[in-house]
Amino acid sequence: MNRTYSVETYGCQMNVHDSERIAGILDEAGYIPVLDGKTADLVVFNTCAVRENADNKLYGNLSFLAPIKKLNPAMQIAVGGCLAQKDQATILKRAPYVDVVFGTHNVGSLPILLERARIEEESQIEILEALEHFPSTLPARRLSAFSSWVSVSVGCNNTCTFCIVPTLRGIEKDRNAKDILDEVRALVDQGVIEVTLLGQNVNAYGVDFGDRQAFANLLRECGTIDGLERVRFMSPHPRDFTDDVIEAMAETENVMPHLHMPLQSGSNSILASMRRSYRTDRYLGILERVRNAMPHASITTDIIVGFPGETENDFQATLDVCTQARFAAAYTYQYSIRPGTPAATMPNQISSEVVGERYTRLHNHQQLISLSVNQEAIGKNYKVLVGSHEGRRDVVQERLTGRSEDFRLVHFDNTSTARPGDEVEVRITDASAHYLIGAPDAIRRTRGGDAHEARNKEASKTSTMLGMPTLSK
Ligand code: SF4
Repeated sequence: MNRTYSVETYGCQMNVHDSERIAGILDEAGYIPVLDGKTADLVVFNTCAVRENADNKLYGNLSFLAPIKKLNPAMQIAVGGCLAQKDQATILKRAPYVDVVFGTHNVGSLPILLERARIEEESQIEILEALEHFPSTLPARRLSAFSSWVSVSVGCNNTCTFCIVPTLRGIEKDRNAKDILDEVRALVDQGVIEVTLLGQNVNAYGVDFGDRQAFANLLRECGTIDGLERVRFMSPHPRDFTDDVIEAMAETENVMPHLHMPLQSGSNSILASMRRSYRTDRYLGILERVRNAMPHASITTDIIVGFPGETENDFQATLDVCTQARFAAAYTYQYSIRPGTPAATMPNQISSEVVGERYTRLHNHQQLISLSVNQEAIGKNYKVLVGSHEGRRDVVQERLTGRSEDFRLVHFDNTSTARPGDEVEVRITDASAHYLIGAPDAIRRTRGGDAHEARNKEASKTSTMLGMPTLSK
């Protein structure tokens, strides 16, 4: 009787992609995904360590499962990802009923560790300090039939003082370009029409083998792959963002006109103590060159509020850069102390009241900018790729939802023929700070839509579960 499993994912796109690999190796080991994780024989937590509440989430969910496991001792619980890599044996101390703790460098070992834990009736812990194999060599259960993550590197050589990632994921290791392009071609053969190239510091790709043009060349190579309609990348770092990347974006038709580039702070003194190794003039200079090369490009960012030592003037500087940059969207975070990072022991930690108050002001400030940027889209047409969550209907209005080429969320009147993965030409009729509203003009049925439909048919024939089985309480 095959054992069933579910995977609970926290954190960044890198983790979402790792969870696709975890599910892929469990499928290969004969496990069956289940919709309701509470009933699963195995629950895997793929954890994040970037922010404080990541810990609370994990230990909260573990204590939720404890009584369920008491009633079903054959149930297994495994904890992987960045928090496992950081906390290691502490996880077994706090939750001794956990069977396996594995790290970010040995995802592939999970099935063996689970077997060993069952046979030896003893918790197993295996944390490697360096990468064993690129996770991309492992099978994957992909969330979408037409849109996929492709990792180009793991780890990071930067030392941002608020970030624990380099400690947990190690220094940057780059995949060779042939493996990446072979993976992309194989995905396109399966019906994928959109790929997102992933790396902690994606545009540093090539540093591992001393080729500064490697990332720009990779984008150009993706431009030669027939059937690949949309290429995106996540997350670049301003320090390594060179003009040849901007040229490659502008010259390569299937590279989408969207740049998500973390700013983190608009104050040069805070950027210095964050050790972000660029200043606002360089950051804004990149945006200007991107907009000169691609006037229709949209730019989004990440900003941390309340970093130690941040004065009201520093905060004002952040608001000013947002005004100048006219981001389509900014993902804003309240600074939280991460034990083990240099910033955790810095003087002048800011009180949570002040951090919260600044967070609200930045949020409101950016809302107005996002609204005005989105309102400029009214009356224009956008090519929208219908989202994979069953064409994720806007619950209120039964509208379909998807992403435009410049990565904006677009809700549009339901057209019964558009499938997830198809492309719909949408005329924008209204806008909010977070999304655009429109009416469909033309529908282009794509290979991606065909792949989604075929996968659904196959799944219903074999009543196989699609997507990622999660715990969902
Ligand atoms: S670039 Fe900085 S914030 Fe990003 S993963 Fe590397 S160290 Fe962390």
